[in-house]
Amino acid sequence: MSQALSEFDLIARFFDVQALTGNPLNPSIPLSIGDDCALLSPAPGYQLAVSVDTLVAGVHFPLAAPPERLGWRALAVSVSDLAAMGARPLGFTLALTLPMPDSAWLEAFSAGLAAASQHYGIVLVGGDTTQGPLSLSLQVMGEVPAGQALRRDGAKEGDGIYVTGSLGAAHLALDYLNQQGSLDPRIEALLSAYYEPASCITFGQSLRGIASAAVDISDGLLADIGHIAKRSQLAVLIDSSAIPIHPVVKELSSSDRALYAASRGGDDYQLAFCVPEAHVEALLSLPFQVTKIGRCQAGSGVFLDGAPVHVGGYQHFEVSDDNSR
Ligand code: ADP
Ligand code: MG
Repeated sequence: MSQALSEFDLIARFFDVQALTGNPLNPSIPLSIGDDCALLSPAPGYQLAVSVDTLVAGVHFPLAAPPERLGWRALAVSVSDLAAMGARPLGFTLALTLPMPDSAWLEAFSAGLAAASQHYGIVLVGGDTTQGPLSLSLQVMGEVPAGQALRRDGAKEGDGIYVTGSLGAAHLALDYLNQQGSLDPRIEALLSAYYEPASCITFGQSLRGIASAAVDISDGLLADIGHIAKRSQLAVLIDSSAIPIHPVVKELSSSDRALYAASRGGDDYQLAFCVPEAHVEALLSLPFQVTKIGRCQAGSGVFLDGAPVHVGGYQHFEVSDDNSR
């Protein structure tokens, strides 16, 4: 354990630093860390897109997660919601709960967070620092031209369903998290999918005007595409043989397990989205890897190879419902 740190020393030393707070003359952020609130000014004609995610140690990441990679992942998974809306990142806040202020841990965590913030072009504008079991809440804010956000409720009958990249690696990584520093590059590829997920920020913005609906894959492809089905009041039909499975997942697992990881495993943070026929040419002209995996039709629910699937995804409160008593 390093020397004791006060809350304000900690903020000044690890979070109110230029690598995280960016250019002080950024016109979108006239006031940042140090006041009661930050002030954000989206460009005229733009809407503010806002989302918060909490990561609890032992639930959303292993207690022994390397702090630098954790810093990157925490921001990447939060920014993924902006990608799914087609928003451009502006700023984020960080509510950090720590058992003890350990300087070495904080330094590595803030370095990872700063690297991700530079990568995604989003700056830290404020936060809160408290003592307790390790947890991180990041609220991200972005801007999107009014009326052009990629919502879950816009899909129409006949739209094709697509995904970015390949799936399953982050889920499989959970089996290997205690093999950090593994010399097998395949294991490192899985760990990288988990700690440095896709978060398709640029691609999400280029889908504006092309996609009718979009969602990021945090809880598993079938569960998340189920949100589009529900909000758009449609049935979604997925062809399992079309799902792009990460090559390392194919190599390291049986075909059943690989399909499970890619279709139901979470944590990939690729995008799933719907595109009407009239926009397919525009989609295919974008410089990104996309795969068509199915289509929307009248009805409700999610179907895999024609069979209805139960798509719970990861549920925090699944076990019992005490309110019913
Ligand atoms: P308040 O009491 O008004 O909520 P605080 O004393 O908690 O403010 O925080 C002081 C300033 O430091 C605020 O601008 C707040 O946004 C910022 N801040 C606190 N914790 C963090 C953190 N972990 N990362 C970035 N900024 C932080
Ligand atoms: Mg406070």
